[in-house]
Amino acid sequence: MRLAVLEGRTVIVEGQAFVDVARASRGEHGPDVMNLYERWPAFVAWAAGPIAAAAVREPLPATSFDAPSPRPRQAFGIGVNYADHASEAGLVAPSAPMVFAKFPSCIVGPSAPLQITVPTVDWEVELVVVMGRVAHQVEKAEAWSYVAGLTVGQDLSDRQLQMAGTPPQFNLGKSRPGYGPIGPWLVTPDDLADRDDLEIGCTLNGEVVQHSRTRHLIFDVAAIVSYLSSVLTLWPGDLIFTGTPSGVGFMRSPPRYLIPGDRLVSTIEGIGELVTHAVAGVPA
Ligand code: ZN
Repeated sequence: MRLAVLEGRTVIVEGQAFVDVARASRGEHGPDVMNLYERWPAFVAWAAGPIAAAAVREPLPATSFDAPSPRPRQAFGIGVNYADHASEAGLVAPSAPMVFAKFPSCIVGPSAPLQITVPTVDWEVELVVVMGRVAHQVEKAEAWSYVAGLTVGQDLSDRQLQMAGTPPQFNLGKSRPGYGPIGPWLVTPDDLADRDDLEIGCTLNGEVVQHSRTRHLIFDVAAIVSYLSSVLTLWPGDLIFTGTPSGVGFMRSPPRYLIPGDRLVSTIEGIGELVTHAVAGVPA
């Protein structure tokens, strides 16, 4: 199932058509997707049932989608989680997931323009997990059953701010407005050929800058969910940016950063494409 948000209403996307969840369920589910995550198992059961199957299909409009989880309580990033990115950054692979916050105010929809307000904005294509159940002290073997689905994200970063402290505190540098675009929709894990091995990459103005597969994650989705839940409580709708493969801008020689006019296209196999246009913003 592909679940998207269209003008604030949750929709199930099927090709070029959609089902409005609240209308089809006569208000039982939706329209706000955040309410839907709170009762995810009941919604999934409804979506697989006869009422959803018989619901009216409407043609998709040309308008763009909103973020599939626009107001998470928490959004996490996992650093240094692909071996090739660890080596390009000159770091050893961590023995436990390296976790930072992307404060939820940075989360935006898949087509939101990126305001460039500093000269050191960098890209990181990432597989993003959306939680579907309250998770605390969850075993790795059970972790996937707490996940609603997966989407494409960019963990955009102001490298200067990210590295400014002693020791560095990544959170603010990862959380400027618009630094967490996600979408275009959530795909449930059962819809993917192999939820643990998806081609991932991004292009900048048509040039491939990152390309890998999610099987190269050092800590996979189940390991990350289990680890986070061993420390804190994960809530429905929470987001986890799972880490980026090699090819980011600041490790290049010379470094390369996003500038107004750039077009960044992030793609994950079986999910879709996120297109980020960089535009000039008021300097920070
Ligand atoms: Zn990242």
